[in-house]
Amino acid sequence: MSVKKILSCPADEYLLRSKSVAVDINDPMLAALIEDLQDTLRATAHGVGLAAPQIGVLKRVFVLKRGYIKNDLEEGGILSRQAEDIIAFVNPKIISGKGLVREQEGCLSVPGAFVDIERIKAVKLRALDEKGRQFNERFKGLAARAIQQEIDHLNGVLIVDHLKKEKS
Ligand SMILES: [Zn+2]
Repeated sequence: MSVKKILSCPADEYLLRSKSVAVDINDPMLAALIEDLQDTLRATAHGVGLAAPQIGVLKRVFVLKRGYIKNDLEEGGILSRQAEDIIAFVNPKIISGKGLVREQEGCLSVPGAFVDIERIKAVKLRALDEKGRQFNERFKGLAARAIQQEIDHLNGVLIVDHLKKEKS
């Protein structure tokens, strides 16, 4: 498909702060959306993940670049056995988590900002793959952190919002 423009603050704040809706797996636009997300993330120099609202589509889909997170995937899990360079997650939901860790994060939609954010250290995620098959998988490290930022995007939350939340 094609490389899309990545929306950013403050110009595109309205869309970035909107909540995305669950995807119907029979949605005829889903395959094209996933390809656009993959092409757009692949074209970034250092992007780890990208959520659909970041290209202006308010649907609960995000992708992660395998190269950055391959060591944070569940050993022997489904994703470690697949080959795609960019992994797609549809209707993702964190079903459990363990521990907390604070680290600095950046975001493609908030250029120049780096924020210390406390996140869950290891998460178990339930999602559908690009073909609509449900899977449960555990993630740690950067993968766990990126997943939480991408799910924030699906809820209209940006990294800078964590500053306000933690100060208040
Ligand atoms: Zn982001």
